[in-house]
Amino acid sequence: MLYCSYLHRRLSLSLAYLHLHSIVAPCILKFMALKARKGKKMTETENFKRARDNETDDRYLGTGWVRFHHFDVVEKTEHNVRVEARKHDPLADGKKGQSYSGEWLFVDYNARDVYAPLRDEPDLFVKFASLADEDPGTRDGRYDMMLEWIKKYGVLGLMPAGNFGPDLRSDREESLFLFWYEVHRAARCMALYKAATGPSRLLKRSGVPGKTLAEKRQLAISILTDNVNHTLKRHCYPKLYYQVRKDNGETADVGLSWGFHSLLGAMYLQMAWRITSRRCEAPGCNNIIGFHKRSDAETCNKTCKERRRYHRNRAAAK
Ligand SMILES: [Zn+2]
Repeated sequence: MLYCSYLHRRLSLSLAYLHLHSIVAPCILKFMALKARKGKKMTETENFKRARDNETDDRYLGTGWVRFHHFDVVEKTEHNVRVEARKHDPLADGKKGQSYSGEWLFVDYNARDVYAPLRDEPDLFVKFASLADEDPGTRDGRYDMMLEWIKKYGVLGLMPAGNFGPDLRSDREESLFLFWYEVHRAARCMALYKAATGPSRLLKRSGVPGKTLAEKRQLAISILTDNVNHTLKRHCYPKLYYQVRKDNGETADVGLSWGFHSLLGAMYLQMAWRITSRRCEAPGCNNIIGFHKRSDAETCNKTCKERRRYHRNRAAAK
């Protein structure tokens, strides 16, 4: 505001500025309108971040997933390509016969790093589901996009990890067919969620069968829930965190949170948090209310608060 009045004084000083004024004023108005609109609309990234912060503590989000530099094609058919991140043995070249000391057994030059998807990429589900919008539909186009993704975030972890136990998933193998199947399933889940919780026009356009809006909503929610539960059951597990302070032996930290066997599991945990977190109660808005807001807050912002009051008053007047 200060800036505006200053600008106004400066501009009224000289006629020479008139021309400039005619350019700047609409720009400022446009900027202010854009800012106002931005205040209302929360992106899905922000929603997912807030949901994660509401639902779990940062210290429980450390479960890691490996990223690799290179993937080799192990099988190629008309519709599918299977790739694998092979271990690059530091002693493999020209040093035959050299024996391993214990630590070398675990060294893999192909492994880039281990990151914590739940902590470092809170909106990975959104990023993954949005690949569906850019699906080129061809095997080679899809392959390029998949390779870029798995180098950035790691493989989805759909293949069993051999003999290490039935639940464990390989963090090295990926199948093009299954990858894109999962992309479209995630996109469908996002669409169902938005249709079930957003404005009724989204539900009407969603293609979910049902005679009434209530029937459509019920069906959308049950398909979504089945998808999320199916994935959580196979790819995630509850994890108890219990730590004792070394100096005095008192309990420092105790809590029940989640771990995952696969990156897919981590992403569906994010979706589950998005669904269960405290939501705005204004009609047609499904934004998450952040945990920093008052515990009795029922809406995500002032506009929604007004809107909710208006709808309540109107309903009461009937
Ligand atoms: Zn809202």
